[in-house]
Amino acid sequence: MADFEKDRFGRYVTQGLSPKQFDKVFDTIHQDRQKRRRQKARQLTPAVLKNKNLDEILKLGKKQVGTFFTIDDLKSFERNRKQVRKQYTGTQTGITHAQLVANSRSIDVKRANNNVDDGSGITSAAFKGMRHNVALIDVTASQRSVHKNHRVEIRFETWDEALEDAAGNDVGAQQRIAKKMVKDRVSVNCNCGRYQYWYRYIATAGNFTIAPPKEYVYPKLKNPTLEGVACKHIIHALTRMQGSGWQSRVLMTLRKNAAGEHYGDDPKKTTEYFTDDEIKRLNRNRKSQTNQRAARAEFNRYQARLDALAGKLKATDKQQLTKTRKQLLKARTITQKEQARREAAQRKLEEATAERDALKQQLADTLIMQKQIFIDAQVMAGKTPEQARRAYLEHVKSKLGN
Ligand SMILES: [Zn+2]
Repeated sequence: MADFEKDRFGRYVTQGLSPKQFDKVFDTIHQDRQKRRRQKARQLTPAVLKNKNLDEILKLGKKQVGTFFTIDDLKSFERNRKQVRKQYTGTQTGITHAQLVANSRSIDVKRANNNVDDGSGITSAAFKGMRHNVALIDVTASQRSVHKNHRVEIRFETWDEALEDAAGNDVGAQQRIAKKMVKDRVSVNCNCGRYQYWYRYIATAGNFTIAPPKEYVYPKLKNPTLEGVACKHIIHALTRMQGSGWQSRVLMTLRKNAAGEHYGDDPKKTTEYFTDDEIKRLNRNRKSQTNQRAARAEFNRYQARLDALAGKLKATDKQQLTKTRKQLLKARTITQKEQARREAAQRKLEEATAERDALKQQLADTLIMQKQIFIDAQVMAGKTPEQARRAYLEHVKSKLGN
């Protein structure tokens, strides 16, 4: 692995790097952090949360208010976790822009909009590359932060669908497809502490974090009520993505993919790092203000549509059930008719057989009678019974020979 420069505090220098180096240094930061975390103790892991063993709970240490965690705390944590799972996990991966903004803490939205005067606001971000269907964004850290940059990743979960729709379509239609895709379901990631310690747990439960890493350790100190969903960097980056400038660059990659270039899942083959000129050009088009009220309204409409669809599905279920029941009834009627038909046929067959047997018998009787008459006549004409029987056989033979 390449060695990256560190500052006097031991932090990696993330400014002035090429998009490729920028991407790599954050991979390194991520790996270092994972290593450190593995050595850390006192985490509220799923096992501790489930078992609620008193010794384990005491090992968690104290709350911010200075008292130890209790079983009740853990119970409420578990309730919160279940609530989050219910709230965000659909059957599909990802979260829409509207849902993400609507459920964010308003302080995070204010910071994303640089609507704060304590230096914690976001002032700039640059779209630096595409790793297949993941947008790589460099968000400049706030003035207050000890960091210089953060890497936000946004993965478009409806990429394949958009790709199919875009293929062979005209430019106008493709732009609409791209616009729809960037506001539709995405998975996200940011390397900042806020996302890691406050939100990744929620995003893991809700199935909209780019994994690895997944986060299973309950944020018992930072975010025990599990409020909010994303840090200011993610909110800022995803809102910028709603602007036509960044979108058109995503569309360019989508088009290349649709044409069969770079197609596949090998990230080495599919990562595109933009040139400095391109990055500058992309930054001219700015849509940086996140409107939480509009997002909430949109999310509510979306939710209402989903509910209506669910209602329709239920109604359809009912109709389907009635239809099936009718079909079953019809099938049963048919079966009864069929049964009757078969029984009649059987009866006819039996009757026919009986008739045929009777005829056979009649024929046999007639033959026996004819034989006897023939023999009697021969005997009366002076033949011995033996001669008469032989004469009869000759007579039958001569008849069969005809
Ligand atoms: Zn962040």
